[in-house]
Amino acid sequence: MKICVLPGDGIGPEIMAEAVRVLEALELGFEMEEGLIGGGAVDATGVPYPEATSALARAADAILLGAVGGPKWDTLPREQRPERGLLAIRKELGLFANLRPAILYPELANASSLKPEVVAGLDILIVRELTGDIYFGQPRGIEMREVDGAQQRYGFNTMHYTESEIRRIGRVAFEAARKRGKRLCSVDKMNVLETTQLWRDVMSELAADYPDVELSHMLVDNAAMQLVRAPKQFDVMVTGNMFGDILSDEASMLTGSIGMLPSASLDEHNKGLYEPSHGSAPDIAGQGVANPLATILSAAMMLRYTFGHEEAAKRVEDAVKKVLAQGLRTGDIYEPGTRRVGTREMGDAVLAAL
Ligand code: NAD
Repeated sequence: MKICVLPGDGIGPEIMAEAVRVLEALELGFEMEEGLIGGGAVDATGVPYPEATSALARAADAILLGAVGGPKWDTLPREQRPERGLLAIRKELGLFANLRPAILYPELANASSLKPEVVAGLDILIVRELTGDIYFGQPRGIEMREVDGAQQRYGFNTMHYTESEIRRIGRVAFEAARKRGKRLCSVDKMNVLETTQLWRDVMSELAADYPDVELSHMLVDNAAMQLVRAPKQFDVMVTGNMFGDILSDEASMLTGSIGMLPSASLDEHNKGLYEPSHGSAPDIAGQGVANPLATILSAAMMLRYTFGHEEAAKRVEDAVKKVLAQGLRTGDIYEPGTRRVGTREMGDAVLAAL
């Protein structure tokens, strides 16, 4: 059981140290090896996803990643930007299924910008296709063209999905719904985009294999609205890469606590890359104040989805609930009446609760 550990940039190393301590405390015999990715890798090797990291990631059963990026690398050519490292590892490992839970812990109900009664008890899972769609479609670019009698800059991208790509993400979503509330909402824009008409058709065909799951369809503009109007109507949502990018951020913000949200990106054999939903938070990096819980909860997802250790995953999640119930808060989730702690102290508390 090999885990490739990629702390990355900014707060990455600080939050990763706590997740690694939690994994070690479980004594499940994991072999963990660290690699470089993102800005740190650019500084050391000139590229954001060096060959040595790629070899490590390919040989591992799972990858635990902190975050990448920061202002220092924002002016580099696009190909050398830290975020390219993330796209490269997802593509290389065929991580096509992105699972992002948005859970609002009762203790943090005030953190949401929505009324507590609208969000209290929220527990939804967004399944986003991650390796296709307009983000990867060719042709793409910006070039000079003659349009309407004038030479002007012309930007273009291509949206496409094959039915097999839709079917494999659909299966992940139906299976996930089966393990939860058995309701799946597929999100598309079939009234305008042919690609998403195909999406809807294939999802409907798949439903025949999952008679125990109730499938519904929603247009993406309505889905964006419903997520803030009545988010608890959803159990599992499945959508393409671009819509999923936007909706999963929207859903995560319903909880008001970006430092709490884990994510998983899986391949066809449940090999996965696990990472917090937030970025490298350069504004607080190196201060020891970042919230490590999203990374610790990402490690719990890894235990569940890649290693099948449901019990250990639950133990970690319960330990996190316990420290919240004890009133411990990092700055991002602090409110008067609770106790403000730093990254290490939060990690210590989770270990004690374990
Ligand atoms: P961000 O998520 O890094 O930060 C947004 C805000 O949330 C900041 O105020 C930050 O301090 C706070 N925050 C985030 N995580 C926190 C935590 N664990 N504990 C406490 N507070 C936390 O987003 P951003 O500022 O837009 O981006 C910063 C950098 O991160 C950019 O270079 C961006 O490209 C990169 N980024 C990387 C990833 C990734 O690695 N997956 C994702 C998003 C952004």
